Amino acid sequence: MIIVYPDKLLRQKSSPVKPEEISGPEIKKLIADMREWIKKADGVGLAAVQIGALKRVILVEVDGELKVFINPKITRKSWKKTAIEEGCLSVPGKHGYVNRSEKISVKALDESGKEIKLRAAGVPAIIFQHEIDHLEGILFIDKIWKK
Ligand code: ZN
Repeated sequence: MIIVYPDKLLRQKSSPVKPEEISGPEIKKLIADMREWIKKADGVGLAAVQIGALKRVILVEVDGELKVFINPKITRKSWKKTAIEEGCLSVPGKHGYVNRSEKISVKALDESGKEIKLRAAGVPAIIFQHEIDHLEGILFIDKIWKK
């Protein structure tokens, strides 16, 4: 189930996944469950906390494909900002504009525990920032400047 605001869990910080946990049954099941829920909800991004797990795992749609990022970190962000009307599966019915960096660099682990680095611009960059905020207990509604 996708938990919704004002559930207090959404305000908690998620903990890093240990490298040896990645291939374990708990994380495998978590990723499978996240894929199932995001598909059901037809979403483009999801953080583990949204299905009740305080782990630093996110799903982001990149190039039309849902990819898993474990312990994601933004290593660079552009000064130039952009904004689109955002929504969140955990905040049904709410939409609003949030300033985000237009371009970012991300470092993370993939499902096999391999380190990946990528750059994102535009919508995928926004999704990354939105999902990584979830790992800190931050919701997009905290940052809306225009409805
Ligand atoms: Zn969200």
